Amino acid sequence: MIKTANNEAIAGAAEIIKSGGLVAMPTETVYGLAGNARDGAAVAKIYEAKGRPAFNPLIVHVGSAKDAGEIAEMSAQAHAVATAFWPGPLTLVLPRKADSGISELATAGLETVAVRVPGHKTARALIEAAGVPLVAPSANKSGSLSPTTPAHVADSLGDSVDMILADGACAVGLESTVLDLSGDVPVVLRPGAITAEDISHVLGIEVGYAAESGEPDAPKAPGMLLKHYAPETPVRLNAVDLESGEVLLAFGSIRFMGIKGGGAAADLPDSQIRNLSEEGDLHEAAANLFAMMKALDQPAHTRIAVMNIPEVGLGIAINDRLRRAAEAG
Ligand code: AMP
Ligand code: MG
Repeated sequence: MIKTANNEAIAGAAEIIKSGGLVAMPTETVYGLAGNARDGAAVAKIYEAKGRPAFNPLIVHVGSAKDAGEIAEMSAQAHAVATAFWPGPLTLVLPRKADSGISELATAGLETVAVRVPGHKTARALIEAAGVPLVAPSANKSGSLSPTTPAHVADSLGDSVDMILADGACAVGLESTVLDLSGDVPVVLRPGAITAEDISHVLGIEVGYAAESGEPDAPKAPGMLLKHYAPETPVRLNAVDLESGEVLLAFGSIRFMGIKGGGAAADLPDSQIRNLSEEGDLHEAAANLFAMMKALDQPAHTRIAVMNIPEVGLGIAINDRLRRAAEAG
């Protein structure tokens, strides 16, 4: 349902966010598909609505630099660019605080988090009314153009968004600049309205573009563009039985799962088993995926066996992540 962004609509949208629903909100860049960044199931719904075939980390939208400091480590450089460009179309990639409460799915299990303080008055009002940080990738199906009007959002997402807060066309119409401040040197991961040169002026040092940013002169910066958590422990997919020594990432009932050589998976000690969703719910599984992979990714474990996950809906992105983990190992 499309609603004009007045006080009443914003209050209603905040209730939707607080109860785990999704709201399309205008920002100065594009319309974002917003959900509570601390609610893993809401984050899973965002990927589902967009039909994303992979989990890439999302940007967390907050009301102020102070609020950003609650979820990320704000360095002196971070404070400097925040003072210069926030509120505005600049996203900072920063070390994530351990107690940030941000869903591991939202950050794809990374130790960093991308944060931004948007300048659009409606986005700011919604963040304040909801009282939680919001993840908000562009409000369109994966692979189609980013929406700059409420009608674009409705055409692309239809009923998978609970409310569209309508507030005209977006001013910038281009995604935010993504600046990575988590490494040794600042680097622009995604070009946007704020340029590397603008940032260089503020920081007083040369700031460049990363190799994958699409800028022609970008230097190679291997390792800086890790976009997902990846386990060190080898991974085996579609496990029906456990081999001896394996730990288990389960999905659904493990009643009939045995261990070769004797025993049942159900008898494994707690440290050696995680269940993505006992009920076989893909939203719950997506929300748990990165936290549970991390819990099982221990030097003492020789291999992580993963039960079959159906290749439908969110299962496609879950399997994409697991297949990459299995190939790497
Ligand atoms: P979107 O949500 O479509 O605006 O895209 C988010 C952008 O931020 C993508 O380019 C992501 O790769 C990038 N991003 C988000 N979080 C991180 C992170 N922790 N590290 C690096 N890049 C990130
Ligand atoms: Mg997009």
